[in-house]
Amino acid sequence: MGLEEANVLAERLRKEMVARQLEPRRIRDERVLAAFREVPRHLFAPGAGLSEAYADHPLPIGEGQTISQPYMVALMTQCLGLTGEEKVLEIGTGSGYQAAILSRLAAEVYTVERVASLAERTGELFRRLGYENISVRVGDGTLGWPEFAPFDAIIVTAGSPGVPPPLVEQLAEGGKLVIPAGSGYSQRLLVLERRGEKIIQRDEGGCVFVPLIGEYGWKQKR
Ligand code: SAM
Repeated sequence: MGLEEANVLAERLRKEMVARQLEPRRIRDERVLAAFREVPRHLFAPGAGLSEAYADHPLPIGEGQTISQPYMVALMTQCLGLTGEEKVLEIGTGSGYQAAILSRLAAEVYTVERVASLAERTGELFRRLGYENISVRVGDGTLGWPEFAPFDAIIVTAGSPGVPPPLVEQLAEGGKLVIPAGSGYSQRLLVLERRGEKIIQRDEGGCVFVPLIGEYGWKQKR
């Protein structure tokens, strides 16, 4: 298949992904749906065939890690309620797909990954695609990224035993934090919102993520 033919097919697969996997579920934010029609997910899923990259499930990305199911990426993104002005922090860069989606919907994206080889590969892909509003750092994301705090939105894309206190501290007034929290095997998707000194919390349902490993996450690989 030639490059142009592949691009046409990928565009069709993206439209189908939105129409079949996102719109019939709870994804209604038009800006989120537009970002999913735009970002070339297949470039973030190394080794997967074109159709596989847009299928309704997570995919391996190397180093024992995964790129999440499109619906889960969309749900978490929608929960942040982005308008285009925000500074967003992501914990768990992985393939970079979630950060790429966020970069279309917010002003600046800061993303932290603990596995250096993934962060390097992903940083290179962002440069190649011209996604200039994303900064990648290697480190323990459970500590946040204090130099750039506060953040209007924080998204954690690995399963945590609880909510890391540094992330709550780095959340701006009115900011939202989305995090899968629970056991090492299954979690609840929690959405926290800062209202003055208060933190309001809601539960968006069950989910399954690879573990968040770090000072305020799991202590070792499970
Ligand atoms: N957001 C990613 C994407 O769009 O492909 C999916 C992330 S994958 C489900 C979870 C990622 O979190 C893995 O790449 C893993 O190495 C990373 N991770 C786990 N613990 C971390 C920590 N404390 N700080 C930063 N990254 C972490």
